[in-house]
Amino acid sequence: MNDKDLLQRFLFENVPVRGELVHLDESYQAILQQHPYPPLIRALLGEALAVVCLLSAIIKVKGRLTLQFRGKGKLKLLLAQCDHQSHLRGIVQHEGDLTPSELLEAQQQGILAIMIDSDAPNATRYQGIVAWEGASLAQAIEGYFMQSEQLPTRLWLAVDEKRVAGLLLQILPKEKSELLVTDDWERLLLLTETLTSEELLQCDSITLLRRLYSEEEVRVFEKTLVQFRCKCSVQRSENAILVLGQEEAEEELKDKQKLVVTCEFCHKEYSFDRVDVMAIFKKGGQASSTQMH
Ligand SMILES: [Zn+2]
Repeated sequence: MNDKDLLQRFLFENVPVRGELVHLDESYQAILQQHPYPPLIRALLGEALAVVCLLSAIIKVKGRLTLQFRGKGKLKLLLAQCDHQSHLRGIVQHEGDLTPSELLEAQQQGILAIMIDSDAPNATRYQGIVAWEGASLAQAIEGYFMQSEQLPTRLWLAVDEKRVAGLLLQILPKEKSELLVTDDWERLLLLTETLTSEELLQCDSITLLRRLYSEEEVRVFEKTLVQFRCKCSVQRSENAILVLGQEEAEEELKDKQKLVVTCEFCHKEYSFDRVDVMAIFKKGGQASSTQMH
């Protein structure tokens, strides 16, 4: 088993705080291989992937959690998604190679949101807007938890060429109003602040927990393997053709034998001939689901 792409949940026995550590290696590289991203975009995507892994484990919904940015500036789309089986995928659409200040500017020209889709029948999508406050994605997520859930949360993220790592600490929901928590929380934050990006990337979870919290009693849970796996399907490709519209689809088929839908996450190709396309629009007239991602 690959021991690099792991999510480790833990709990402090005597302090009402939970934590998670995530390391992405092969899964991150597999996602990067899909598109040639410039370094800054690679790093942003890496951070977003670590965030969705960490958050999907907290939320514990059978379904998927998506972090999505849609913008009008040079950053058009940032999408990272993780489901309850820790299957991960992500994509960025951008204009050229962005400088740090251009990226910051682009982030102000769009909306960042967290979405939760449950697999339960008739479940409605949860969507929360995240304000780009502070200088980093980690700070934006911390602000989101404070404002929307009143849950003190801290995130540490580190990215290099090939790997991503993240650590999350959060006060347990039912304990948040107890005054006693504050001192313990501050102590844990001080201990965690000693962590360097290098340590976070290089050390395995158990070594890190021992190093950071040697005086604390920490309960660790079973590790979860994180994998790059796409959720694309024939059905979703059919929906993409429906969104394209009948006129456009027929136009495409004029010169070609087949209409090919390529998944932007994994580059898998789904091809449909004229008969297939006609059937899609016939079927689509009765039931219309146009969700593409
Ligand atoms: Zn795919």
